[in-house]
Amino acid sequence: EPAKRRLPKWLKRPLPGKEFGFTDHLIADLGLETVCREAHCPNRTECWSRKTATFMILGRVCTRPCGFCAVERGKPEPLADDEPARVAEAAERLGLKHVVITSVTRDDLPDGGADHFRRCILAVRERTGAAVEVLTPDFDADHDALRTVMSARPEVFNHNVETINRLQQRVRRKAAYETSLEALRFVKEISPETATKSGIMLGLGETTDELLETMADLRAVGVDLLTIGQYLQPSAKHLPVERFVPPEEFTELGRLAETMGFRHVASGPFVRSSYHADEAWEQAGQQ
Ligand code: SF4
Ligand code: SF4
Repeated sequence: EPAKRRLPKWLKRPLPGKEFGFTDHLIADLGLETVCREAHCPNRTECWSRKTATFMILGRVCTRPCGFCAVERGKPEPLADDEPARVAEAAERLGLKHVVITSVTRDDLPDGGADHFRRCILAVRERTGAAVEVLTPDFDADHDALRTVMSARPEVFNHNVETINRLQQRVRRKAAYETSLEALRFVKEISPETATKSGIMLGLGETTDELLETMADLRAVGVDLLTIGQYLQPSAKHLPVERFVPPEEFTELGRLAETMGFRHVASGPFVRSSYHADEAWEQAGQQ
């Protein structure tokens, strides 16, 4: 954990509310993983207190070694056949109207876990009627895998480029900028009615010009929704924070992004892909 006192004052977080324990127990009871916990998300007390969480499927061990991410890496676990049903039950018991499902990257599986995503989307939809947002790995931009996921018609397809082109190698290591753009482009091509979404972290050494270029690249492949947040170092082993970006800069960058034609932009120090994702989706105007 980074020393809290070294964080600027705008990075303080609220204490847990009374529903925090409800969410916490429910997730534990159903044996589910969440990216909230696995990625040490700074919003966990806030989100869980408002009974929202982002489910992380396909196990808790990732096959990729991104330099910013706290998720455990190594040899992945076998898929749990009943996971779609457990995710759907959690979504129902939390009363979610907008369900966000993400996963580790499973380069060991022939379809990258695409069919498991498909099953989870269908299970949630069947049981709750909620809108489903998937935040997926790049699937190496494999068209068959992406077709499989999209066959379940999630309302939002989210895949993060995470950072600008120049820093990809340093930040994401085994992932590639072009691959991520291609995945987003292809999803828009085969499913134009689906809102596509991506996200960028600030504070890793990017310049404003580079950020504008990345946002333009995302617009060029039809990305509709954008999130921009502050990178926080999950442990001393992870990439250092180069800069804490002041809230006013987030506001200004968000304003610039809006002029580029994104349907919705969330930009602020605590913004994460799934932070208030329900509201972003509502405000974007569902098609
Ligand atoms: Fe979980 Fe997303 Fe909220 Fe973080 S922002 S706690 S990952 S739901
Ligand atoms: Fe974390 Fe995703 Fe990178 Fe895996 S691929 S280390 S889950 S960001």
